[in-house]
Amino acid sequence: MPLDTYHAKRDFTKTPEPAGRVQPRKGGPRFFGVQKHLASHLHYDLRLEHGGVLMSWAVPKGPSLDPGERRLAMQVEDHPLEYGTFEGVIPEGYGAGIVLLWDEGTWEPEVDDVDAALKKGDLKFRLNGYKLKGSWVLVRTRGDDGRAWLLIKHRDEWAGPVDVTQFTQSVKSGGDFADILAQDQPEVWLSNRPARGGETGALFQRIIEKALALKAEREAKDEPARKPRTRTVRSAQPKRPAKRKPGPPAWRKPKKRSQD
Ligand code: MN
Repeated sequence: MPLDTYHAKRDFTKTPEPAGRVQPRKGGPRFFGVQKHLASHLHYDLRLEHGGVLMSWAVPKGPSLDPGERRLAMQVEDHPLEYGTFEGVIPEGYGAGIVLLWDEGTWEPEVDDVDAALKKGDLKFRLNGYKLKGSWVLVRTRGDDGRAWLLIKHRDEWAGPVDVTQFTQSVKSGGDFADILAQDQPEVWLSNRPARGGETGALFQRIIEKALALKAEREAKDEPARKPRTRTVRSAQPKRPAKRKPGPPAWRKPKKRSQD
């Protein structure tokens, strides 16, 4: 089954990611999204809806609008449609880190038969997102068991010399990694963050510090305005609820936080 690998890699009692299921849809627009994922290595996950799931490629450098740039895109396991708009903190386990919804929209194949194009290793398509638009191609390269593809922008009115990865804000929350972490529990990685060394480790360190400061700032602002709190001190609570309900997909709905 298409989502077996996705499910096998995750413990849904420990991750806020949706379990999801295969959802074939007849006709209508196809979802596309890019999730910027700060995990053991920073990368951008490109997701294209096809066959009831999101086909997925991890792009280490992110997409480029320059047709002369070929960006390595490693195909990874299919994800459920519900994953497409997920944003949040994965505290531990597979993919531990921060997920930011960097772009979303719809895509259209520029070929008649998507399955045949995938099999051939040459999928031409159009994106209609906030950051990414126009014509693109994914070309499979040799090696890595056929998992390695190149993501290349076609020359059109949406191509250009601008480095699109310099735009770091979420299309869902408007925030950056630190904002997303500040809404969760920045303390989660004080002792053991997903990447310790190198550039990614340093990036994590900066983001954790910024998130802790943001959270402290927000709490200081919130405190006097609120009535005396009936809730118990957070630190007295277990670190995370034992189980988060996958629940309905969070399409656009602001995340409701339980009052603990
Ligand atoms: Mn990822």
